[in-house]
Amino acid sequence: MAVSFADVTKRFADGTTALDGLNLEFELGEFVVLLGPSGSGKTTACRLLAGLEMPTEGRIEIGGTDITGLPPRFRDIGMVFQNYALYSHKSVYENIAYPLRIRKIAAAELDQRVKQVADLLQIGSYLHRRPSQLSGGQAQRVAVARALVWEPTICLMDEPLSNLDALLRLHMRTELNRLHKRLNRTFVFVTHDQEEAMTLATRIAVLKDGKLVQFDEPRAIYRQPSNRFVAEFMGRPAMNTMDGMVEDGVFRAGGVTCKVECRDGPVTLGIRPEQIGFGQIGSEDGFSLTLDVKETVEPDTLLIFANDEGTITVRTQRDCDDLAAGQPVNLRFPMEALHYFDARTGERLR
Ligand code: ATP
Repeated sequence: MAVSFADVTKRFADGTTALDGLNLEFELGEFVVLLGPSGSGKTTACRLLAGLEMPTEGRIEIGGTDITGLPPRFRDIGMVFQNYALYSHKSVYENIAYPLRIRKIAAAELDQRVKQVADLLQIGSYLHRRPSQLSGGQAQRVAVARALVWEPTICLMDEPLSNLDALLRLHMRTELNRLHKRLNRTFVFVTHDQEEAMTLATRIAVLKDGKLVQFDEPRAIYRQPSNRFVAEFMGRPAMNTMDGMVEDGVFRAGGVTCKVECRDGPVTLGIRPEQIGFGQIGSEDGFSLTLDVKETVEPDTLLIFANDEGTITVRTQRDCDDLAAGQPVNLRFPMEALHYFDARTGERLR
């Protein structure tokens, strides 16, 4: 049983192509996170799955059934969008109960389900209020409760946590994780927050310009990005990438020199800030760069070096009291931490 987008293109009336031949398939029961820069097509993909928009080309299937033209009410999909539209004339209780009322769920069960989901989302004490009497974060939780209360096959969430304060967001993240495991339903979740994506997703779909760039488990997206774009997009601070030349197994770019396992010629080398090591003065695998800026965000320190080719950022938990801007620092790129990308196309080489 799978959800699939097959060659789905969405072109709007003004000519904007929001999705460009999207192919994406995932199993029911997964927690799929759509991640990508603004305008990459995440919301459009959600709206198409929900039936709020029709694709210009392609097919969408759930469990082998073509649902491309099926009206939203016939799709077994609960939705929470960023602008969580609640019924302003109904109480919080009635807002949450609405999907159960239209499905004619018996009163006792309805009451139990509404209270259960309200407790889970910590809105149990606001059930009598109107949406206008709630804070933005509370209203957003009501929208999540309303989407989950009838336990749909797929729960679509477009930035559902964006209005919450940092602590509540963390709490909700844990709750969503627990909820997903308990309900065994499919969650499709849009976020800009990489940490959220990493912790929630069974698989992350990275979109760019309406196309799927990589669809993988969070660990694979982080450790084996399929191209330079994903490498630079995932991880804060971003992966360092530098264009240079390999000669006799040695890479050189600006002031950087390191041994590589890569054929001779031009290459884009990548290394994560936390994987850069400190070299011994005079050792053959290190090189020296002049420190530009030192920023400490306990327990980490960011060391930023500018060279002719761009900027290199190091993240370390080492005590950096002895380092000051303007001073040379010996660095080392461990061979096992290196990523290689085609200098022209940006595709991963190995
Ligand atoms: P964000 O992270 O900013 O929410 P997104 O990845 O969700 O972005 P979409 O909202 O899917 O991106 O938009 C994809 C592209 O389609 C954008 O260029 C957007 O401007 C365009 N777009 C979205 N809706 C319409 C519309 N109704 N008419 C024309 N263009 C649209």
